[in-house]
Amino acid sequence: MAEERRRVVVVVGGGVAGGLVARLLQFHAADVSLIDPKQYFEIPWASLRAMVEPSFGERSVFNHNEYLTNGRIVTSHVINITDTAVLTAEGHWIAYDYLIIATGHKDSLPRTRTERLEQFKDDNRKIKSANSILIIGGGPTGVELAGEIVADFPEKKLTLVHRGPRLMEFVGEKASKKAHDWLVSKRVNVLLNQSVELSSSTDEAHTYRTSAGTTITADCHFWCIGKPVSSSWLKDTILKDSVDGRGRLKVDEHLRVKGRKNIFAIGDITDVPEIKEGYLAQRHAQVTAKNINLLMNGGQESKMTAYKPGSAIAIVSLGRKDAVAQFPFMTVIGRIPGMIKSKDLFVGKTRKDMGLPPHAG
Ligand SMILES: Cc1cc2nc3c(=O)[nH]c(=O)nc-3n(C[C@H](O)[C@H](O)[C@H](O)COP(=O)(O)OP(=O)(O)OC[C@H]3O[C@@H](n4cnc5c(N)ncnc54)[C@H](O)[C@@H]3O)c2cc1C
Repeated sequence: MAEERRRVVVVVGGGVAGGLVARLLQFHAADVSLIDPKQYFEIPWASLRAMVEPSFGERSVFNHNEYLTNGRIVTSHVINITDTAVLTAEGHWIAYDYLIIATGHKDSLPRTRTERLEQFKDDNRKIKSANSILIIGGGPTGVELAGEIVADFPEKKLTLVHRGPRLMEFVGEKASKKAHDWLVSKRVNVLLNQSVELSSSTDEAHTYRTSAGTTITADCHFWCIGKPVSSSWLKDTILKDSVDGRGRLKVDEHLRVKGRKNIFAIGDITDVPEIKEGYLAQRHAQVTAKNINLLMNGGQESKMTAYKPGSAIAIVSLGRKDAVAQFPFMTVIGRIPGMIKSKDLFVGKTRKDMGLPPHAG
């Protein structure tokens, strides 16, 4: 009985890391609960393609109950944690023996898959009906969205405004310059070192002013600014001192929150020194599922697998055919990296990782 009680796993956050770890543990623990404010799993990097081709979202957004067939799905935010349970926004306490925190980045996505797919259609209508478009933010989201739009709608006048001195500061200068040059070669107007003034940004007015005094005319705009990590909800919990200055949870080599035996953290919320990427979040999930399995079966802590931070690999898609890829010793742009990512955006692969057929929508 005591052994059985030790097998209740609660996962907070149903993103790339949390969804996978819940799926991997569902037949090994007595009870797995996945708590997420949305009813669905979304492949985040596919959403920009879904804005130019809404049917793409049919495959990249799927309900949690499609892959979590032996677990409990709780559609809510978690707002508090004690040593033994978590509290949902609706006031329900859910007890755990092992807790996994995977709350990634803050987002305000709708609750249902249908509503999310409708958002893609709305964005698509907005893009199609505009002659000129302004993208605010030159991180991976802004650059990938610009790439999608120029590939499918080359006739649209596109402006990309970025606050920093170069695009995509999370990768090296070479990758950033190659992406910049590619966009300029497609006649995208890239403006660096300036931000769009909030008060000037209404679609109705069609004009926007930047901090450098530039006036931009555009029929519509898209905000693509980086989202903060979702850790503010931890500030009044037992983990308040485990959050670093950047809002990330401090973890040990086994991805346990430092000083905690049964609380793990995985994905973008962690302070693991590596680029924050989905394929690394998936690796965190795999290592954590293995370690929790070991512990649930009475294995020794000394036998736990240590996580080794990933190297600085990143591929940013530029439309359907091209991409820029940063590898540890080389940075390349064009069709070859495009063949790795841009055609399917790893959607078939991610669906397979989640136990779903790669092509069905
Ligand atoms: C444009 C773009 C392109 C990218 N391209 C790639 C790529 O090509 N390859 C790659 O590997 N990575 C890529 N990434 C990065 C990748 O998307 C992230 O690293 C990955 O999503 C992190 O996974 P996660 O599970 O940690 O967080 P997320 O995927 O952000 O999931 C967090 C989950 O937690 C939930 N949540 C938040 N707060 C709470 C709460 N209080 N209670 C309950 N649930 C909560 C959210 O609803 C969400 O479901 C890209 C990202 C962007 C933006």
